[in-house]
Amino acid sequence: MTDQQAPVHTADESQPVSLTINGMTVSAHAGMTVVEAAWLGGVPRVTGVGCMEGVCGSCRIMLRRDTKVSVGLACQTFVENGDDAIFLPPASAPRHHYEICDFKDSWDIHARFQNIFPEAERCRHCHGCNVSCPKGISVEEGVAQASAGRFRDAGEIFFECVMCELCDGACPELIAPAHVGLFSRRVTAHFHLRPPNLINRLEELRQDKQDKSGITREEKDE
Ligand code: SF4
Ligand code: SF4
Repeated sequence: MTDQQAPVHTADESQPVSLTINGMTVSAHAGMTVVEAAWLGGVPRVTGVGCMEGVCGSCRIMLRRDTKVSVGLACQTFVENGDDAIFLPPASAPRHHYEICDFKDSWDIHARFQNIFPEAERCRHCHGCNVSCPKGISVEEGVAQASAGRFRDAGEIFFECVMCELCDGACPELIAPAHVGLFSRRVTAHFHLRPPNLINRLEELRQDKQDKSGITREEKDE
């Protein structure tokens, strides 16, 4: 999808673009994203929904452009003449259930992972997840690292993941790579020492919250 991405949205009204969005013909302008074209075509805007910067991962689309069909994020996809875009429904509820607070021992994480994600070892290296990822993440490699028990490495690979779950939809083995990534990041954080500046700041906030008078501890100490 990277050939469809660009960092700025500057519509050029001198260049009309005609496309189809959810079966509706829309007249837009070059430089518009599919989301902006959808709004122009009459799809209602919903205040507070959608980041418009490829961060929330919710504006999932399937796009037919010429003979190529791909998936991506509508806020990062710029319109071209003849595009046929369909907004995809939200992903279904996750199938892999676990409570990270139940994880007490880092020695058994790999066994837990294999129990929760038994499909991960069946990756057929079809690259479908890599091709579908709008963030250019090496999803397949992340799954491989997690399957080998290298959760810190896997978590780093998934660092830019926005949980659009397009990779999940692309996986023929139903591995749910997005959730493999989330698991990897969660266990890494769960068993990692918190940075001292974060601990100190949280303690300061807790103390200030207890201070009903609204006077800071520094002022009290003077
Ligand atoms: S790894 Fe999957 S869920 Fe994360 S951004 Fe890529 S396609 Fe979306
Ligand atoms: S889509 Fe699924 S089976 Fe294919 S490479 Fe990715 S994780 Fe493996």
